[in-house]
Amino acid sequence: MTAGTRPTVVLGHVVTPTTSGTDGLLDIPSGAVAHTDGTILDVGDVQDVLARYPGALVEDHGDRFIVPGFVDAHVHYPQIGMIASPGLELLDWLERFTFPAEARFADDIHADRVADFFTDQLVDNGVTTACVYATVHPGSAEALFRQAQRKNLRVITGKVCMDRNAPDDLLDTPSSAVEDSVALLERWHGVGRLEYAITPRFAPTSSDAQLTALGELAASYPDVVVQTHLSENTAEIEQVRSLFPGTRDYTDVYDRVGLVRRRSVFGHGVHLSDRELRCLGQVEASVAHCPTSNFFLGSGMFGVARAQSVTGLRVGLGSDVGAGTSLSPLATLGSAYQASRMLGAPLGVGQLLRLATLGGAEALGVEASVGSLEAGKDADLVVLDPSGPQNSAMLRNRVDGAETLEEILFATMVLGDERAVARTVVAGV
Ligand SMILES: [Zn+2]
Repeated sequence: MTAGTRPTVVLGHVVTPTTSGTDGLLDIPSGAVAHTDGTILDVGDVQDVLARYPGALVEDHGDRFIVPGFVDAHVHYPQIGMIASPGLELLDWLERFTFPAEARFADDIHADRVADFFTDQLVDNGVTTACVYATVHPGSAEALFRQAQRKNLRVITGKVCMDRNAPDDLLDTPSSAVEDSVALLERWHGVGRLEYAITPRFAPTSSDAQLTALGELAASYPDVVVQTHLSENTAEIEQVRSLFPGTRDYTDVYDRVGLVRRRSVFGHGVHLSDRELRCLGQVEASVAHCPTSNFFLGSGMFGVARAQSVTGLRVGLGSDVGAGTSLSPLATLGSAYQASRMLGAPLGVGQLLRLATLGGAEALGVEASVGSLEAGKDADLVVLDPSGPQNSAMLRNRVDGAETLEEILFATMVLGDERAVARTVVAGV
């Protein structure tokens, strides 16, 4: 603590996963979180924490819930304006809706306006950490970095790299992809809470030469996040098979060029084989589970329980807006539950909340800083108020009749959305 900085103590019903725990949640009904200068100092019972910080500013949220800031492990900010575009599967949906929307990001003013709106929406939804795709235009990543910096969000992003199978105005080349990525990385990586992510869109839109060049780039920056899509849709998998003859499977397309490693974040992974899951787990790579997107595009269902049984494999939650149908991690968890139920291995409330917080932080390799309410981590907090008047009457009615924490949190995931977020604290502010 800097001399003279007065801590803030936030009072409420504290619920958080913990780094040492597995699926269980730390549950402190009369709880408190003390923080100062953007860092959590202490978490515990209200009397104990207040006694340790006499003279602190006190922010009392009564019996509302205090949970960690949410982590969105996979989202496309340029697609926020085309969310809920109907009727197609992945590859046709990209052609018809996504690429035209992304082409508009050649205009820096447009990019800035959308980045501002998107980052405001993150805060409204309680998302304080996000791993985000920009577009092929370097200016689109610049715009998001600037807006995230202004709001002090923990954002990991990068310019999308693609040099084939997309409209001409959205293509780069192997060399320009590397040059533009390096320039952005050198400028923004490690500035405040920002990090760069090497971002090939997915194998169908990158030539072998581009993937190889990005693998070499990744080797030069061994600690940087790599994000891309993997095994989302069966037609996509067929396309990859024909574009990359001689590779063992889709995961191998990335692995053989060095893009599968710790902090490689693969969106979807719906149809991964056991071999592929093990390949990812061996290096502590991760999958961003995007259930609303998978339902919306009819892609299939990712088995969280199956993936988590693979040693080392990390799993986070992604909204995947604009194929995903909500930026709300609560709504996305409702869909994650339904996918897990359909696959016969239903997730419990503790497992679900963990996916959207500490699980996501682990998937992105930022679990030392965020994902749970623990001393030393960033003061990213969400105050949940599922019985507040801003929520739907259906949710309020259900929560009012609930008797256990599990019932209330579960109902908030199945019936709730950003309206249940009463307040978002981003790095203490
Ligand atoms: Zn995606």
